[in-house]
Amino acid sequence: MREFHFKAMTANDMLYDLCIIGAGPMGSAAARHATLIEPGLKVCVIGPKEPKNYQETLECSHGIFSSHYDEGRIATLLHQWQSRAELARRSQSRFSEIAQQTGIEFYERVGHLVIGNQNDPYIQRVQKIMACMKTQVEILDKRGLSEKYPFLSQTLSEDTFILSESSGYVSPRRLIKAQLKAARLQGCALIDDVVDHVTEVNQSDGSKQMKVSTRKGQIYLARKVLLAPGGFIGFRDLLPKGKKLDIKLMKPRLAFAELTDRDVRRLSNMPVITWKDKLRSIHCYILPPIKYPDGKYYIKIGRRSEEEFHSADEVAEYFKRDPSEKAADSELLGLLLKLIKDLEVVSSHGDSCFTAHTPTGRLYCDMITPTLGVAAVGNGCGVDTSEEIGNMAARMIVSGRWNHDLPYEKFKAKFKVESSVPSSL
Ligand SMILES: Cc1cc2nc3c(=O)[nH]c(=O)nc-3n(C[C@H](O)[C@H](O)[C@H](O)COP(=O)(O)OP(=O)(O)OC[C@H]3O[C@@H](n4cnc5c(N)ncnc54)[C@H](O)[C@@H]3O)c2cc1C
Repeated sequence: MREFHFKAMTANDMLYDLCIIGAGPMGSAAARHATLIEPGLKVCVIGPKEPKNYQETLECSHGIFSSHYDEGRIATLLHQWQSRAELARRSQSRFSEIAQQTGIEFYERVGHLVIGNQNDPYIQRVQKIMACMKTQVEILDKRGLSEKYPFLSQTLSEDTFILSESSGYVSPRRLIKAQLKAARLQGCALIDDVVDHVTEVNQSDGSKQMKVSTRKGQIYLARKVLLAPGGFIGFRDLLPKGKKLDIKLMKPRLAFAELTDRDVRRLSNMPVITWKDKLRSIHCYILPPIKYPDGKYYIKIGRRSEEEFHSADEVAEYFKRDPSEKAADSELLGLLLKLIKDLEVVSSHGDSCFTAHTPTGRLYCDMITPTLGVAAVGNGCGVDTSEEIGNMAARMIVSGRWNHDLPYEKFKAKFKVESSVPSSL
């Protein structure tokens, strides 16, 4: 971000009180909250629409995609950190209100099982947070599990320990649609574009404005800008010159298994499953049967990997890869077949997606300058918590300072030291 004096305004120039960059889970939630906190505030959200198909993906010359192009994201209260669990709890508590206001349903309360081993560090941390937050859970053993969900395998070990809670999953696409609809109804402008530059402009009266320049050649002026572009934040000139957020972009491992009609019926009460057993090197999550835009039902199984992206080109190439090259992860498919009895997989595939991570494991929500804020980096759970993150970010950017009851220190942005920054991140 450069600082310079801006003189002439073109016919396309528009002055907003707040410009939000990125119409994903965080940006769309921030837009709804900003228009609620201060009715009459002139707000816009700028972000590109999701490509409708592979051809449109190939034609996306801007190379900006997202982490939310999917139908299922786990929404749970069983998190390893209290602040994250609190963000998730508050987010979930407002889901039905948003669905009612917009007529868009996005949350399926199918239940969530954490299958593991009582001595597993993850299970122990989750139990600690559950106790602090008085989260309602049922504890099951292997027998209790097979009574409740007879289609789950008997091959689990005898010491299997199961936490069962009443959360479920969210369709990120529909959640965003609902948040943006609510924001629009409250006066927010939605702009389909990609932002290339954000620059600070000195006004003749000594005040500052932000100049937002887009791929389509538009210029928008705003008193403040909130950056919510997810892991793409380093791919455009959005931050002040020389500033790079300390984030890692990881390639998750994934497999989608297409189901037969028989299995869709048989698994109709399947919950979301998190399966973690360090002793047996098992670490994955499974979404129940979900209908995708092609009309077919799939179960998704995924896990984090240590594979990293290092440049915008690498990410764009990965998203544009031919679908036939996006094979399902065979090890994950094997785990799925182990867990669900007699599962018949009609076909399988993988997908392009990335998750953004911080060294603190928590998202960044911070003011970078008095007129520029950031709310980004979901650490693999940015949909689940996005509604309250939107509230937190909107309060911060509207008032220009930290304005939330959770402690600021947890969300403080960390920057990379210049010498460790790869050229294109
Ligand atoms: C395979 C996979 C599984 C996951 N599972 C879960 C889960 O179970 N539960 C969960 O809560 N989370 C999960 N996540 C993580 C979650 O999807 C992300 O944390 C979340 O999408 C982050 O939201 P965001 O708004 O910060 O970023 P994004 O979702 O990436 O949205 C950012 C938006 O900003 C736009 N944008 C970027 N750059 C610009 C620009 N220059 N100008 C304008 N617009 C721009 C993008 O196009 C995008 O629409 C998963 C992610 C993946 C990949």
